[in-house]
Amino acid sequence: MDPIMGESKKRVCYFFDSDIGNYHYGPGHPMKPTRIRMCHSLVMNYGLYKKMEIFRAKPATKREMTQFHTDEYVDFLNRINPDNAHQFGKEQVKYNVGDDCPVFDGLFEYCSISAGGSMGQFLRCSREGAARLSRDKCDIAVNWAGGLHHAKKAEASGFCYVNDIVLGILELLRYHQRVLYIDIDVHHGDGVEEAFYTTDRVMSVSFHKYGEFFPGTGEGRARGESDVLFSYAVNVPLRDGIKDEAYKSVFEPTMRHIIEWYRPGAIVLQCGADSLSGDFLGSFNLSMRGHAACVSFIRSFNLPLLMLGGGGYTVKSVARTWAYETGIAAGVELQGTIPNNEYYEYYGPDYELNVRPSNMTDHNTPEYLDKIRESVVELLKTKTAAPSVQMHHVPKLAHDDEDDAEMEDEEDKDNRKPMRLWDKAKVHETSLSDSEDEGTGGRKHRQSHKTFGKASVADPHPVDKL
Ligand SMILES: [Zn+2]
Repeated sequence: MDPIMGESKKRVCYFFDSDIGNYHYGPGHPMKPTRIRMCHSLVMNYGLYKKMEIFRAKPATKREMTQFHTDEYVDFLNRINPDNAHQFGKEQVKYNVGDDCPVFDGLFEYCSISAGGSMGQFLRCSREGAARLSRDKCDIAVNWAGGLHHAKKAEASGFCYVNDIVLGILELLRYHQRVLYIDIDVHHGDGVEEAFYTTDRVMSVSFHKYGEFFPGTGEGRARGESDVLFSYAVNVPLRDGIKDEAYKSVFEPTMRHIIEWYRPGAIVLQCGADSLSGDFLGSFNLSMRGHAACVSFIRSFNLPLLMLGGGGYTVKSVARTWAYETGIAAGVELQGTIPNNEYYEYYGPDYELNVRPSNMTDHNTPEYLDKIRESVVELLKTKTAAPSVQMHHVPKLAHDDEDDAEMEDEEDKDNRKPMRLWDKAKVHETSLSDSEDEGTGGRKHRQSHKTFGKASVADPHPVDKL
């Protein structure tokens, strides 16, 4: 564990609840919550506990979840379990629960832990430490159980049920005029983009694979006239096989430009690890250090930073990378071989703290990446830099818009396609995966954004009431 030269010292709050590893999506499902506990075991055995404060977050309550999600959806998640699921046939279709997002024992508690870690630190800030973050008592908060970016207001999607990121950002908006959301998961951060699509107080920037890939959105072009005016969403669509240097060549200049232009008060970084080389579902070719370079770069702006997990389906790579990135947050570089820990045998045969790139073809040409960088600069020219807002207000709490609920009812629930099916198509095309598990079903992904903009920022309550 070596200090990183030239790095400013940060106070890091790390959130972990060992119960997270007790939940199982079901046999063969690629999402494995154990990866969080594997990462934690590395974090502890590398001695990182000496470099940061470790908290067990208060699990999010139903009421806290309804700051974004509808009451009826949260109630459904709270009530359903494998034994009574047969009584909820209609609701399962309505809320997209049952296939990619299965019903499993402890589903609601799992969602509570994930969401609690992302919003809890800031609740602690306001309630216990009287704004721990705002009063400069914590510079970086880390919650690897969070980052579940596909969940919608009243719908599960892509292994995500409760959108802890949206809840965490809503919490940050109480203290900060503008929050920047950055997503380096291999999939488009559609749930977060959609939630804040109509506000200039949150800017979302997602780097992801685009083209015949879940969730099918995030093309990089504005979706219509109104997008040009209102949306602070930037998408960077990438192709298969992107490597460290190419990723860096688009990530760093783009993010530097956006941060200087938007001037956020806080940053949320979703560190989805399915963008790593060899991921079971992803098709990028980033090494552990290439992925972590994004964390170092964003950290260097010295803004309050919330680091979250996300996708990541080759668990030994996920655990390695998030442990290494926890070190980056704390200002140290973890080195060498894997220390002895309860999951030691997973890291064979080399037992090194590393995820290496493969020799797969990079389909992102320098010309293509140039075009992407230019298009982001052009898009920002159509918008106001660092838009200012009145800070007398904060997002409203529990809400439920009946009109929105009706609109959702009208949508075609059968017009969706599960995540694993999309990835099956990818596997056939590129032969990248040592696939052990592919989903079934024939629903197309629903690309509607009818439900956008209900992220509670439109109808705020005075901050001093909270
Ligand atoms: Zn993903």
